[in-house]
Amino acid sequence: MTAFIQLRDLSKSYESPGGGEAVEVFAGLDFELAEGESAAIVGPSGCGKSTLLNVVGALDKPSHGEVLVDGREVAKLTPEEAATFRNQTVGFIFQAHHLLPQCTVLENIMVPALAGHGDLSGDALRARAEALLEEVGLTHRLHHRPAEVSGGERQRAAVARALVNEPKLLLADEPTGALDQANTDKLAELLVQLNAKRNLTLLAVTHSAQVAARMAATYRLDADGLTKA
Ligand code: ADP
Ligand code: MG
Repeated sequence: MTAFIQLRDLSKSYESPGGGEAVEVFAGLDFELAEGESAAIVGPSGCGKSTLLNVVGALDKPSHGEVLVDGREVAKLTPEEAATFRNQTVGFIFQAHHLLPQCTVLENIMVPALAGHGDLSGDALRARAEALLEEVGLTHRLHHRPAEVSGGERQRAAVARALVNEPKLLLADEPTGALDQANTDKLAELLVQLNAKRNLTLLAVTHSAQVAARMAATYRLDADGLTKA
């Protein structure tokens, strides 16, 4: 089986703001994830987990090495291609929901489809957003604003928003970091279901042993690289 995500000798350093020695975040990472698989990435704070997800999702560029996603070299995409890739191929979920406070839950789900990269609009878009909100258990909250729903509900809305353009890859950066135990369970269950039902490849950075245990495999990122835990 060909890998859906493939990292080859991947390194990332940041220029030091003061002009001193560059800060190396990680170096020499090799990793593969097949289409439709799920994996957790764990490791201490500051080891580069967010940086790694950002490089895979074309939010940041590697310093060296290759990132292939669905056969495409992510670091070589033009800015326009990268924008389309982030909008159409990847769904992102972060620790904070980043929903727009002035929009309803339903409107928030439709926002990524209005960015002009896809062809969904009008009634078809609304129908898809409503179906997604049903899938994440939020049919009773369509017209509420983010401040009027619970933390768990906001994060499930963020999952629905990540899926509106039918991405092939879901990148989650500490998706349950702000949730209590019960909502962590619920979100983990939702991610597992989506992964299975939609053949969605899932890469989740997490500090939660509970969430990591639900993924098919767990990898640890540390000074030795990315190794199977
Ligand atoms: P993690 O998500 O594992 O906690 P991060 O990927 O956020 O770690 O950060 C890894 C390291 O890279 C940290 O030492 C951080 O200070 C550094 N870093 C992250 N982003 C930048 C940036 N834009 N400029 C400089 N250094 C950065
Ligand atoms: Mg992080």
